[in-house]
Amino acid sequence: MNTKFTAAFALCLVLTVFSGFAPPPEKPDPKIAQMLKDISAKNIETTILKLVSFGTRNTLSAQDNPTRGIGAARDYLYNEFQKISKDCNNCLEVEKQTFLQPQAARVPQPTNLTNVYAVLKGTTNPERVYVVSGHYDSMCTSPTNADCDAPGANDDASGTAAVVEMARVMSKQKYDATIIFMAVPGEEQGLLGATYFAQQALEKKMDIEAMFTNDIIGGVTSFKNAANRQTVRVFSEGVPSNETEQQAETRRGTGGENDSPSRQLARFIKETADVYSPKFGVTMIYRRDRYLRGGDHRPFLERGFTAVRITETNEDYDHQHQNVRTENGKFYGDTPEYVDYGYVANVTRINAASLARLALASARPKNVGMVTARLGNDTELKWDASTEKDIAGYEIVWRDTTSPVWTDAQAVGNVTNFVMKGMSKDNFFFGVRSVDKAGNKSPVSYPRPVR
Ligand SMILES: [Zn+2]
Repeated sequence: MNTKFTAAFALCLVLTVFSGFAPPPEKPDPKIAQMLKDISAKNIETTILKLVSFGTRNTLSAQDNPTRGIGAARDYLYNEFQKISKDCNNCLEVEKQTFLQPQAARVPQPTNLTNVYAVLKGTTNPERVYVVSGHYDSMCTSPTNADCDAPGANDDASGTAAVVEMARVMSKQKYDATIIFMAVPGEEQGLLGATYFAQQALEKKMDIEAMFTNDIIGGVTSFKNAANRQTVRVFSEGVPSNETEQQAETRRGTGGENDSPSRQLARFIKETADVYSPKFGVTMIYRRDRYLRGGDHRPFLERGFTAVRITETNEDYDHQHQNVRTENGKFYGDTPEYVDYGYVANVTRINAASLARLALASARPKNVGMVTARLGNDTELKWDASTEKDIAGYEIVWRDTTSPVWTDAQAVGNVTNFVMKGMSKDNFFFGVRSVDKAGNKSPVSYPRPVR
């Protein structure tokens, strides 16, 4: 054998060992694919134009005027969810969650705020919940000016319209877990609606397994010819916002600053887009949010929930948080002509496919541990057995420590521990995901060291 051939043979052998039971690449589920076809840019446009028609949706604006102000937007959204529910034999529980927000930096006097949401109950595991949100409030240049026009077509009628459209198409099917479609106010006042919902969820011990906020997904038309037009950004934090000092100490000793639950969720969304939306993709951004900025996922993260932010790739600051005006011949304002409804529909499809995959699959494995009882070149992982009825088994996934995404997977059957022979935990990152009988895969759980 010549040396070239020997090297090639050795490489093949290594690849065979490492990918021994590699599961086949995921094929689109026809039901999810159909749902994505149902998502309509026209419906999204209708919702955005209706929200804009209320003149302003500033959180401090009128609550009882039927045609102008945040109260009109609140009632419109509630009625839309009700209509959608009628069309699915009352499959949604539509709620108004009102609370009195005390005075705060951007709230000059105590003000009622109302989260509006629709709950699509899961069939087999209703206690497991996924939340998708947009904020329905808007602002002009000043967040406390309740009188100026604040169309907020992109920020964030776009995210709100995506949520309504998802409720419409997703409610035609059933899922193992519960999905909550939510529109919140008070984002521009300091993430107030989302904070209230997240705090209530924490106190009620709700099992929110993932939350996405869609905020500014309009694909602003001034960037129509940008090079990376066919993408949307998914922001995820690396180090968990609620990390304890002890967990930080473990992380410093083992790595994992790129493996928070939210980063796993971002990878899951990216993998989903790769399967269901080959022409319109996800750019993962390794930050909690845009530079020094905040969004409605943050109060969820701070309370230990897994959450990401979804935002258009290019933002145009002349058309966000601006009084509508022309100055020195230049137009400013967040008006509908700067929203690309087709772009919003594409972002909505990535959301919907990801949510459907999450809610159809079993929960991600719990208490995943990397066994460290002794030193060795094998890697042993263990986890809790799933209590879900349709569990088929688990996959171990891994990647090089420098890779942004999981590159390899091995099906290991319905077991609760597994040894990866000849693969050192020093040289790879590992994770575990669950697979149900229909082949649906959960997001990956990253192990912590256990004895
Ligand atoms: Zn916003």
